[in-house]
Amino acid sequence: MKKRPASLLILFGATGDLANRKLYPSLYRLYTKGKITENFAVIGVARRELTDEQYQLNIKQSIVSEINNVKDCDINSFVTHFKYHSHDVSDSASYAELKKLAEQMDQTFELEGNRLFYLAMAPEFFGIITQFLKSEGLTDTAGYKRVIIEKPFGHNFETAKKLNDMIRSAFEEEEIYRIDHYLGKEMVQNIEVIRFSNALFEPLWNNRYISNIQITSSETLGVEERGRYYDKSGALRDMVQNHMLQMVALLAMEPPISLTTEEIRSEKVRVLRSLRKYTDKEIQQYFIRGQYDRDEENLLSAYRDEPMVEKDSNTGTYVAGKIMIDNFRWAGVPFYIRTGKRMSAKSTKIVVQFKDIPMNLYYQPKEVLNPNLLVIHIQPDEGITLHLNVKKSGQKEETKPIHLHFSNSNVNGINTPEAYEMLIYDVMRGDATNFTHWEEVALSWKFVDRISQIWENTREQDFPNYVSGSMGPKKADELLERDNHIWWPIEQFEIE
Ligand code: NAD
Repeated sequence: MKKRPASLLILFGATGDLANRKLYPSLYRLYTKGKITENFAVIGVARRELTDEQYQLNIKQSIVSEINNVKDCDINSFVTHFKYHSHDVSDSASYAELKKLAEQMDQTFELEGNRLFYLAMAPEFFGIITQFLKSEGLTDTAGYKRVIIEKPFGHNFETAKKLNDMIRSAFEEEEIYRIDHYLGKEMVQNIEVIRFSNALFEPLWNNRYISNIQITSSETLGVEERGRYYDKSGALRDMVQNHMLQMVALLAMEPPISLTTEEIRSEKVRVLRSLRKYTDKEIQQYFIRGQYDRDEENLLSAYRDEPMVEKDSNTGTYVAGKIMIDNFRWAGVPFYIRTGKRMSAKSTKIVVQFKDIPMNLYYQPKEVLNPNLLVIHIQPDEGITLHLNVKKSGQKEETKPIHLHFSNSNVNGINTPEAYEMLIYDVMRGDATNFTHWEEVALSWKFVDRISQIWENTREQDFPNYVSGSMGPKKADELLERDNHIWWPIEQFEIE
């Protein structure tokens, strides 16, 4: 039988929101599925004083609140793998004790010296923790050592580079797993499979047959309690630099010669290198920023009235953009992206719009054939829909649009693995395919920095410019209208 990975996970930020909502439930699912066995252990690290028993109780509570049908026997044996270490990450002295505890756990659970350091903490601590891990000897271990870094990875290229240099002084590039949790999503991983395993799509996947590609990631919630962080970041840094550009890279990359991490990454990097470098004027034309206002019923507050947000904030809670990829395959095909908070639907979808057929035999005075669309539903529903035209029953020349659906959620049901579950398992197995390489991070920041510099130097006079509960500012519609396109109403594109 294939050996399951043995490892010690040292979790910095063990009492935080991410750990409670995502990481403990994901580890528990891996445990109940037998993907991690008895040879695993976790040391939870955070500032608060807690006994192991209190910590284990917290873990149980967070799992029970996220997962139905938790069995007592499973969860009780699961939490025996967890110990707590109260620790201030900026204090070198606490690392000596952590090292001792790690060595003990290594012995007790036979972990072969394999160590994963998960930094689920505010980003200002990423650099300092990795440096102490090295200077205090935690990275000197007989097995592998890997570090998992949460987002955001820097605030711009310069700060990302500084952070990377700090981490690189303790870990090699192949030991660094930079999380982009979109890459752990089932349907994001499916983009490559849809493209490269279907003879139907790949021959058409280019500028001869594709008119444009639209990627939308919309949220209904506002900034909630994240005002302090968000007001310095905005939608551009929070969503575009990472998730949106990663989806563009997966949609646009050339077929890799094999499915190894290196081959896939190098194709994604080539896409990011081909992103058109716009002039300042083009940036102003092709990138639209939005900031949410109150809703029509006046029930929700405007962004500027949210806690910890500047009253005259110039931060965008919405971005729409037109990205051009200057290579042979994609010359002339716009990739439109949009993402924002307080929009009318919570949804991430990709719409690939194919070009019109050369001559429409079924043209009728007021009706034009609907273009073929391939819709990839990323979340919350998962699946694909193909929009085609067929004959309207009883009519000779009239057509009607039909939708062929595949619902991944229906196939996998509640068993669809959570993104974090897949990603943690990948790190344990040493598979870095679904994590971002430094080169991808650097290129994405350079692309986004050009836009943020312009936006930060020019106040947007129109803010707030979209009503909460809408699909964004009018200017975003005009961006596509100028190219004779429209945003497809993805909020109506549910899998039936
Ligand atoms: P959080 O504020 O809820 O938790 C922070 C954790 O860090 C707590 O356990 C706290 O005790 C610990 N901590 C703070 N200062 C410390 C110190 N000096 N020494 C030791 N421990 C200290 O944060 P979070 O929401 O869990 O986010 C953690 C990371 O994950 C961030 O980088 C965030 O951007 C990222 N992230 C979070 C989410 C989410 O859903 N919460 C989603 C994506 C990414």
